[in-house]
Formats: sequence, C-alpha cells, structure tokens
Amino acid sequence: MESILPRILKVSEILPSLGLLPYQEGIVRDACGELLGHKVPGNGTPAFKLYPHNIDEINCLTNDELPRYLFYRYRYDTFPQRLKLDNFPPCMQIEPTSICNYRCPFCYQIDSEFTKKSNGMMGMMSLDLFKGIIDQAEGNCEAVTLASRGEPLVCLNIEEMLAYTTGKFLALKFNTNAWFLDEEKCHAILQAGVNTLVFSADAASEPAYSALRVNGNLDRVHKNIKRFRDIRVKHYPENRIITRVSGVKVPGTDDLDAMDGFWGELVDQVAFVDYNPWENVYDQPANDIPDPCSDLWRRMFVWWDGKVNPCDSDFKSSLSVGMAPSEDLSAVWLSERYMDLRKQHQTKNRSACSPCNRCAVI
Ligand code: SF4
Ligand code: SF4
Repeated sequence: MESILPRILKVSEILPSLGLLPYQEGIVRDACGELLGHKVPGNGTPAFKLYPHNIDEINCLTNDELPRYLFYRYRYDTFPQRLKLDNFPPCMQIEPTSICNYRCPFCYQIDSEFTKKSNGMMGMMSLDLFKGIIDQAEGNCEAVTLASRGEPLVCLNIEEMLAYTTGKFLALKFNTNAWFLDEEKCHAILQAGVNTLVFSADAASEPAYSALRVNGNLDRVHKNIKRFRDIRVKHYPENRIITRVSGVKVPGTDDLDAMDGFWGELVDQVAFVDYNPWENVYDQPANDIPDPCSDLWRRMFVWWDGKVNPCDSDFKSSLSVGMAPSEDLSAVWLSERYMDLRKQHQTKNRSACSPCNRCAVI
C-alpha cells in the first residue's frame, strides 16, 4: 500500500486538470481522500481501502489509467456498504454460454432442470447481442467478467467476442476451467488484453481434482495452463495479464501449500474462494439474514439469451430484472423491479424475496 500512496497523491493533485465529468471527479476525489486518510466516510462505514490484489492490478496500470480504476473500484467496494447507486453497475458479468463440459458438485451444472435442453436455459450468446452489450458497457463500466453459469471457451464465437473487447476495459476478467484452452484461444485471450485470467482448479493431484471437477482431467488442464504460460512468455513478454488458479474451498481440499507447489510456477497467484451452495440455493433452508445483499449494488449479470439477472446464485432467473437488447442496461439497473428488490433488502425484508430468503450471500 505504501508504494501506491505517492501515485494516489499525484492523482488527487492533478484531478481538476484531468477533464473528468464533475460526478466522476467527485468520486475519484473521495477515493483519494479516503485512501490518504484525509476524508472520513460520513455514515460510519469503513473508509475505502485497497486489498493486495487491487495493488497488483494498479501496478499494471499507467498513471493516466489510475483515475478510471479508482472511479470503478471505489464504487465497487463502497457503494454496497453505503447502499449507493448511480446509473451503471460497477461490475458486469456477461455469459458467453450457459453450457459447460464439467459437472462440478458445487455448481448449478448438476441441476438437471437447468441443463435439460428442452427447458431452454442452455445456449450461446450471439455475437450481435454481445457487441451491443459491450457497446453499452464501454465507458460506463471498467469491470467486465466474461463468464457466469457456463464455460466460456465452449462458446463458438468466443475468439471474436474477446477481440471485440480489446482496449475497452481496465478490469476485464475471464474465468475458465482450461479444458478447451488450445493455442488459438491462448492467443485470443492475450491479444484481447484480458487483465485477469482465472483458471478454476481446486486440487494439486488426482483423484481429488477429478472428484471436484467432474469430467475433467488434471494432466490435460495442467498441460493447457503450462502452454498458456509458455505462449505468454515467448510471444507477449510485455502483456500485463494477471493469471490465477482459483479453487473452491471445500473440506479436505484446501491445502494452499500443495496448490502453490503444483500451480505456483505456472501462474501469478493461487487462491481459494469460500464455498457457497451455488448448486441448490432453491433447496436451502430459509434463513433470517437481515443484511442486504451486496450484489444488488455491485454487479449485474447478462445471460446468453439477453436476460438480465441480479446475481448468479439465482441461476434459474426467478429474480430476472430485464431483457437485452430490447431494454437499455442502464435503464434495467435503475428499473422499478430492481429498485423494489433493493428496497426489500434495505428494509430488512429479504425473507420476502425468493431465493434471497434461502441464500447466504451478504
Ligand atoms: S464450476 Fe465452472 S467448470 Fe465446474 S461445472 Fe460449473 S461452470 Fe463448469
Ligand atoms: S441474496 Fe442471493 S439470491 Fe438474492 S440477490 Fe443476493 S445473491 Fe441473489
């Protein structure tokens, strides 16, 4: 953090000369003020801070890009805490496809109602729809993740989609199980300027890997990720991508040292995320969590068919809030249905919403 502060101070000093819109300038000023300890948030919530992975991201950015990053990151972190909104989500997840070749036991892909073709929830986004969504996000949103309920490399248009995002976002993220990561796709990811590439893998040996990544094979995935590393080193030595192997923390497989030993030389970061029962939120017992769900102020999801959803815990879209391209994404973000849902959460009444009443996300 110390090494970042002089850059934050510099941004705060030159802010009026950057030509930002008054609203953007105010957000960046607040972000700098809280990071430098000059400003205390008015409503008792913690001051904005940067986590180690944010500092890694900032270290890849130029000074000219830093104000844009702060505008995004301040809204992403503090708006859910302070229940604030503006006209575009701080983060968008766009789903190239809902189809996956794996059947991980903690994933919605094991729900046969979801994966049964005739139920209409499986499919791939058209290139036209994708381009329309990216056009709306560009300039309004820096954090775009190309993944949600399926494996993005299954999508037949994925290389064209990646090419279309080139140079448009500062926090472009791509999640993959790496099964289909062939040479062409390695180049497509690196040429698109993806900022963070996450490989989903939870184990460093067999049979643990295949027990969690059902239909997968550790040897093939390890070879694919190694090839990605080699292509990056050989052909894109200046590329600023951050690569991460990320596992789901399930009992008996959360040995970070073993993961580090196995994956550490191939990627920049190795991490675990906490398990959430993504596979069956609808069957969980009702809970009485009073806190509002942060996703409602932070992220918006667009499924392959254009359906807009507030989260992917609700993978069968009970809470669906709109439809692209017939509705404008900013209008959906501020729509009556979305606002009603937020109001239920804000007034400690999330038990009135399904499946929020069975979901542990806060
Ligand atoms: S967790 Fe990822 S890789 Fe596993 S089934 Fe779900 S979408 Fe596929
Ligand atoms: S509480 Fe759960 S189901 Fe409701 S919006 Fe948040 S993540 Fe989705």
